[in-house]
Amino acid sequence: MAIEGDIRHLRPWGIQTDSLDPDAFKYFETVLVQGNGYLGTRGSFEEIAAADGKNAPLTLVAGIFDTPNEEHLVTRLAPAPNWLLLRFFDGTDWFSLADGEVLEHRRTLTYRSGILKREIRWRSESGRITRLVSRRFVSMARPHVGAISLAVVPENYSGAVKIRSELNYEACYEDGIPQTDLVYKALADGVFSVAVRTKEEGHTIAEAARTHVFHRGRLLATTRKETRWGEEMEFSVTRGRRYTVEKLVSVYDSMRRQDPPAEAAAEVRSLPGFSALERQHNLAWSEYWEDADIRIEGDAFAQSAARFFVFELLQAASKANVDLNLDASVAAKCLSGPGYNGHVFWDTELYMLPFFSMEFPEVGEKLLGYRFNRLPQARINAENEGRKGAKFPWESAGTGIETTPKWLPAGEGKMIRCWTGDREIHVIADVAFGAWRHYSATGDEKFLKNMGFQLILETARYWAYRAERENLAGGGYQYVINEVIPPNEYHECVNNSFFTNALARWNILKALDLLKQMRRLESTQKLLAELGITDDELMRWQDAAEHMKIPYDERMALYAECDGFFDLEDVVGKEWDHTNCGQKQIIKQADVVTALYLLPEMADAESFRNHYDYYVPRTDHGSSLSAGVHVLFSRMAGYRDEAYDFFQKAGSIDAARRGHASDDGLHAASLGGGWQSLVFGFGGLAVNETGLSLDPDLPDHWKRLRFSVQFRGSRLRFDITRSGVEISVDSSAAAPVQVCVWGRKVVVSPGTSELVVGGR
Ligand code: BGC
Ligand code: BGC
Repeated sequence: MAIEGDIRHLRPWGIQTDSLDPDAFKYFETVLVQGNGYLGTRGSFEEIAAADGKNAPLTLVAGIFDTPNEEHLVTRLAPAPNWLLLRFFDGTDWFSLADGEVLEHRRTLTYRSGILKREIRWRSESGRITRLVSRRFVSMARPHVGAISLAVVPENYSGAVKIRSELNYEACYEDGIPQTDLVYKALADGVFSVAVRTKEEGHTIAEAARTHVFHRGRLLATTRKETRWGEEMEFSVTRGRRYTVEKLVSVYDSMRRQDPPAEAAAEVRSLPGFSALERQHNLAWSEYWEDADIRIEGDAFAQSAARFFVFELLQAASKANVDLNLDASVAAKCLSGPGYNGHVFWDTELYMLPFFSMEFPEVGEKLLGYRFNRLPQARINAENEGRKGAKFPWESAGTGIETTPKWLPAGEGKMIRCWTGDREIHVIADVAFGAWRHYSATGDEKFLKNMGFQLILETARYWAYRAERENLAGGGYQYVINEVIPPNEYHECVNNSFFTNALARWNILKALDLLKQMRRLESTQKLLAELGITDDELMRWQDAAEHMKIPYDERMALYAECDGFFDLEDVVGKEWDHTNCGQKQIIKQADVVTALYLLPEMADAESFRNHYDYYVPRTDHGSSLSAGVHVLFSRMAGYRDEAYDFFQKAGSIDAARRGHASDDGLHAASLGGGWQSLVFGFGGLAVNETGLSLDPDLPDHWKRLRFSVQFRGSRLRFDITRSGVEISVDSSAAAPVQVCVWGRKVVVSPGTSELVVGGR
C-alpha cells in the first residue's frame, strides 16, 4: 500500500494548486471548503454563480434541512444563497477562466490563518491584462460572517471597470431542484439583503452583503446599480494602480433568530473592515492551533495529512457550535458538499467525537447534545416497532426520524432498495459508546448526570427489547439480534452481527453499571419513574446482556462477523467479484476489528493477531471509514509496517485527489479516524478505567511526534522522540496528572513537564 492519488497540492500548512483542470474543479471545491460549524462554503470560484456541471458551488447552514419535492424525497441540507459571487469587468470583458487567456492562476489555502487566496493574471480577448488577487474566509471569530477582498491591478490599461457583487438566491444543488423561494430582497444604504425560505419546512436563510471599493486605503466613489442578484459598481482605474474590493457578508437563519434578514443587515452594517475581521479570524485560528496542532518530523505527507484532519474537523464543528447553541451535529460530509444529504451517521460518535472530546470538549458535548435533544423522537422510533427505549436512526437529519433513502439510483435509470435505514441499527449503541468515551475523557460528571447517563440508559433499553430470547437445542437459552446490517454493509441481512451484539451487550452492561452507581441520586429516581423502568425490567436487561449471543467459532478461535459467516463462500486467492456479495466473505470495511478496537477486553494480543490474519485479507476497504481503524488495529495486532501502510491510505482519502471520490464532500469519519490513528495509534494514547496511558510507537522514519489533548480538565502536551517522551501539563490544570508511560507511572504537576527516557 502507498499513498493513493495525487498529492502535489499538499503543503505542511495547507493546500496550494495551480491546476485549472476542469476535471479537478469539484475536488478542489471540496478540499478548499471554508467553514466554522455554523456555515460551510465550498471553495468555488468567485465568478461562478451556480452549478454548471464542472463547478458545484454550495453554501450550507448547519441543521437547516428541507425535503425538496417528489423528485428528491429525502430531506437534505438546504442550499443557502451563494455569497461568493464577485465578478470583474475590465471595460471590455467579464473575467472568466474560459475567456481570453489565464496567464497565471494559483490558489492557496493556509490552515494556520484559515485564508484562501487566489492569484490570477488574466488577459481578456481585448488584450487587457489584469492582476486579480482574492483573499477570503468564513470567520472563526464571528460565526455568521464571510468576507472576500479582491485586489485589482490593471497592468496595461486605464479606464472604467466594473464589479458585480451578488448573492445568488437561486442557488441549488447540482440536480437543479429548486429547494427555496425568495421571500425578501432589498438594497438599502449600501446593504444588499436577501432571504430565502425552504419550500417544505419553511426555514428562512437570510444574507446581507456590503461591498466597497478602496484605493490607497480610501473609499472610492463608484456608480452603482442594482442587478438581478445584487449590485454592480463602476469606477475608473489607472494603469498599474491597485484597487481593493471588499465584500462583507452576514448569514442568519430562522431556526436561531426571530428576524434573520434584519439580523443579517444589522450585523453587516456594524462590521469593521476586512482587515480587522481578518485579524480576528486569524487570531481565533491561532488559538485553535495552539492546542490542536499535530507536528510530525520526518514525514512530510503525514504532517500535511495531520493538519488537514484537524483543520477540516474544526471547520465542521467549532466553538461556534457552543456560542450559537447549535442543535446540530457533524454530517458525514461535514458542511463541504451535497453527499449523503447532510445526514448524520455513526461516523460522528465513533470516528470524529474523540477529537472533539479531547481537544475541545465543550464542542464534543454539543454534538452529543444533538442526540440528547432527539431522545423523544428516538423513543417514538422505538415505539413504532412496538418497543421501548431510544432508537436512533441510521441517518439522522433535523428531527431525529429515520431519513435514510429507501431507494437509491443504481444506474441506467434503475433503482435499488436501500436497507440500511431499516436494519443498520448498531448506530444506537455507537451513540451510547460515544457518550461514554466523552465522559471517560472529560470526567465531566455534570455531562454524565444531565445527558450521558440517559443516552446510555435509554439506548440500553432499546437493546433489551430488540434482543429476542431463543431456546437452545441442548437446553438453556440465548438472546439473539436478527436481521441487521453490520458495519460490513455488503451483508444486508444477517443474524447476530458480532459488532452489533457486542456493542449492544456493552451498552446494557454499562447502563446497569452506571445505574448501580447513580441509583441513589434523586435525578436517577425521577428518570426511572418517568420512563417507567422497573426492577423487573432491569432483571431482563441483565439477563439479555448475560445471555447475548456473541458469535464465536471455537475451532478457528475467531469471532464471526455474523451467524454463518465462515460458511459463506471464501474469496481469498480468488478474483473478487462483488455480485452476490451477501453470500461471500467479502468485507466492506473494518467490522469485527472495530468492535475489538473499541472493546479490547474481548481478546488478547495473540487473538488480535488471529483476527487480523483472518479478516484483513477479506476486507476491501470499500468505505473511507476502514483505513483509520485498521491503523489502530494493526498496532494492536503487532503489525507495525501495516499500521503505517494503513495510515497512508487513511491520509489519502480526501487530502489526495483520487479521481472524483471527494467531489461531493469530505469523508468526515476518515478525518476523525485519521486523527485517532495518530494520537491513539502511533502516539499510543489511551483513556482507560484507571486514567491515561501512553504507549507510543512511531513509524521507523519518524523523528518526532508532538500533540496535545485535554484530559479531565487539564491540557497535556506530548513530545515523543526516538529517545523518549516529554509530557507537560499546562499551568491552568487543577491538580497533578498521572500518565502511565510504557507501563511506568509518571506524575506531572501543573506548569511542569516530565521526561521519560527509553522506549517500549
Ligand atoms: C451507504 C449507507 C447509506 C446509503 C444511503 C450507502 O452508500 O453505504 O450507509 O445509508 O448509502 O444514504
Ligand atoms: C459506510 C458507512 C458510513 C457511511 C457514511 C458508508 O459507505 O459504509 O459506515 O456510515 O458511508 O459515511
